[in-house]
Amino acid sequence: MENFLTKQIIQKEKEKVNYPDKIFINGNYQNSISGKTFDNISPIDGKLINKINFSQKEDVELAVKSARDSFETGVWSRSDPSHRKKVLLRFAELLDKNRLELSLLDTIDMGKTINDTYNSDLPASIDNIRWYAEIVDKIYDDIAPTPHSTLAMITKEPIGVVAGIVPWNYPLWMAIWKIGPALITGNSLILKPAEQSPLSAIRIAELLMEAGLPEGVFNVLPGDGPITGKSLAMHHDVDCVAFTGSGEVGKLILQYSGKSNMKRVQLECGGKSPNIVFADHDNLDFVAEKSAYAIFGNQGEVCSAGSRLIIQKEIKNEFIKKLIQISKNMMPGDPLDPQSFMGAIVDKSQLEKIDNYVISGKNEGAKVAVGGKVDRINTGGYYYEPTILDDVSNDMKVAREEIFGPVLSAISFKDPQEALRISNDTEYGLAAAVWTNNINTAHLIAKGLRAGSVYINNYEEDVDTTIPAGGYKQSGIGRDNSYHALDNYLQVKSTWIKLR
Ligand code: ADP
Repeated sequence: MENFLTKQIIQKEKEKVNYPDKIFINGNYQNSISGKTFDNISPIDGKLINKINFSQKEDVELAVKSARDSFETGVWSRSDPSHRKKVLLRFAELLDKNRLELSLLDTIDMGKTINDTYNSDLPASIDNIRWYAEIVDKIYDDIAPTPHSTLAMITKEPIGVVAGIVPWNYPLWMAIWKIGPALITGNSLILKPAEQSPLSAIRIAELLMEAGLPEGVFNVLPGDGPITGKSLAMHHDVDCVAFTGSGEVGKLILQYSGKSNMKRVQLECGGKSPNIVFADHDNLDFVAEKSAYAIFGNQGEVCSAGSRLIIQKEIKNEFIKKLIQISKNMMPGDPLDPQSFMGAIVDKSQLEKIDNYVISGKNEGAKVAVGGKVDRINTGGYYYEPTILDDVSNDMKVAREEIFGPVLSAISFKDPQEALRISNDTEYGLAAAVWTNNINTAHLIAKGLRAGSVYINNYEEDVDTTIPAGGYKQSGIGRDNSYHALDNYLQVKSTWIKLR
């Protein structure tokens, strides 16, 4: 299918799309045992899409049992790597075949634009699955350099039952970040999508079955955090939780692990990433455009968004003027219109949270340079204007806390030392960028930044499966993507053989 979308193509697909609403356990779609459901609202217009089966503790029990049983039989966990590769490659094909449908499900469910889901999230997800499929028969284990009389093998084995608890900002893509490495290494997986965006997760369960994944190896539990997510993370028969979401919940997951079975925890949490712009850059128009994308892309609902603009004093006013101009072309529009740049905010409470942060910034002395308002109210949906807060100091709430919306906090600096000090003065450490023409400044700042991903003269333009993603400090533990993600899902076994 070509990358070109029209309103007509989208409307036609929308008319025939089904909205899945079931739990998926042991190869079957089923209702929750209790019969409980929750409302799934579209932020595009605030209307009910459907009622989704709400997984309770007893559903979690069933899913964990199904995952455990499938793991113990070895039907997947001990299958040939070449077989696992074939199944995941087929899954990638099926994602591709159903690309528009899956894009629509995510757009309708959480409000990001169809252009983003169709041209970014889906191709990236497909690429991710293909990459993990392709590496599984190319990884070798080790023999240790032990004395002549012994042979010691260092092998890696799947950890067992993995729970993937994922957020709503990239519903399918963030799930895929867990699915690829967890499944290819032979684990059984239970996916818990965010309550705001369960549709694509439920739908891909049948695609994985169609691809040839054995029953029980992949289960989906739509539900909330405090009941469904917590029951999974507290479960004694879950060996690993792979989580992406807020730092607050990340800390809870660590506690649940400590209170239950010391299960392994991988976390990708929030950020308050600095985007440092030096006056010596020779193309500030370009930098402004990329900086606007870094905070207004995906409605700013991105954990690695460049949410703190750390800008050299002498160019601050000129640079903010450029950003204001650019932001005018990034106003929210209909998420189902392929021309829209910005879509809807995920739900009403997130919209209110964003607005409250802007009010708090004003109260603490920041100036609204542009935006600062709810938009498109007559649609019934949840939209917010791209917003720039000027005259922010790094101790204000809008500089310290993750807003998770299209709000940029601009903080000025005098010299490189001050830029670095402000940038690292945060409890987060997910991403950071530096823009300068001076190679020394670029490298010294990059080395000094305490962040998992550092960009020099770009801001996260290419998210690539081959590159690890994750954070320092309270932005997380472990890494998604690349070979590094495999470590989340593998045990290391040392086997000693005495030679006689
Ligand atoms: P956000 O603030 O972006 O909504 P959250 O951290 O609240 O992010 O949610 C990310 C994922 O964590 C979602 O799937 C959510 O249901 C889940 N979650 C929320 N609270 C808990 C909890 N107490 N235990 C386990 N999972 C939770």
